[in-house]
Amino acid sequence: MSTVWMNQLSWIDYEARLLRDQPPIFLPVGALEQHGPHLPLGTDGLLAAAVAADTAKRVSGLVAPTLSYGYKSQPKCGGGQHFCGTTSVDAATLIGSVRDAVREFARHGAKRLVIVNGHYENQWFLIEGIDLGLRDLGPAAQLQVMRLEYWDFLTETTLASVFPNGFPGFALEHAAVIETSMMLHYHPDLVRVDLIPDDGPADFPPYDVYPTRRHWVPLSGVLSSAKGASAAKGAVMATELAQRMAAAVAHEFA
Ligand code: ZN
Ligand code: MN
Repeated sequence: MSTVWMNQLSWIDYEARLLRDQPPIFLPVGALEQHGPHLPLGTDGLLAAAVAADTAKRVSGLVAPTLSYGYKSQPKCGGGQHFCGTTSVDAATLIGSVRDAVREFARHGAKRLVIVNGHYENQWFLIEGIDLGLRDLGPAAQLQVMRLEYWDFLTETTLASVFPNGFPGFALEHAAVIETSMMLHYHPDLVRVDLIPDDGPADFPPYDVYPTRRHWVPLSGVLSSAKGASAAKGAVMATELAQRMAAAVAHEFA
């Protein structure tokens, strides 16, 4: 039984893997969120799961089913909540889901949990869910949790080669070169290459206004051009991410 996907194992096989190997358990977290005309709504979760699976293979880990609904899309990093299809949860819901996951994996006897975030807006609520989950378990708990945004594992050298004209920053990289390239690598059938927009980078003021200003956000929902995307760039990034994330897991959880 060599699958990395936890939900393809029986409980007997899962328990045996836990007892025998203490595999790190990867929990991808994504969002259901517009990603322009060329990428699917589930991009954040699909990429978090794909990167988690490639990493899990290198460290004999298991990947749990993705938490597929994320915190509310923000105009400056996800386009905002006004797009049809963007389907978000309140902070308390996401915090509760992560808190429950921490408690449940600890109950199974897992000792290492790696939460792989693929949606910018989730970050602080994942931290809160981990904190409350560990507090529930108490100081005697055996579970350790690592949390990461996968894109932070890209090196300056790789970013310089992926963005020969300059890197616009991770927030504006919504549905742009990184996500489009990674999707062309992992899920080419889900990318509408013919519809990739060439919008200039969105220009946001250094404050927010509520209700959010829809006209701040390009109509396509893409926050900087995705024209420079390619499957080859996606392959380079995917390999680097899996290598460096696996090294981090091995370092912390050896
Ligand atoms: Zn995304
Ligand atoms: Mn997102």
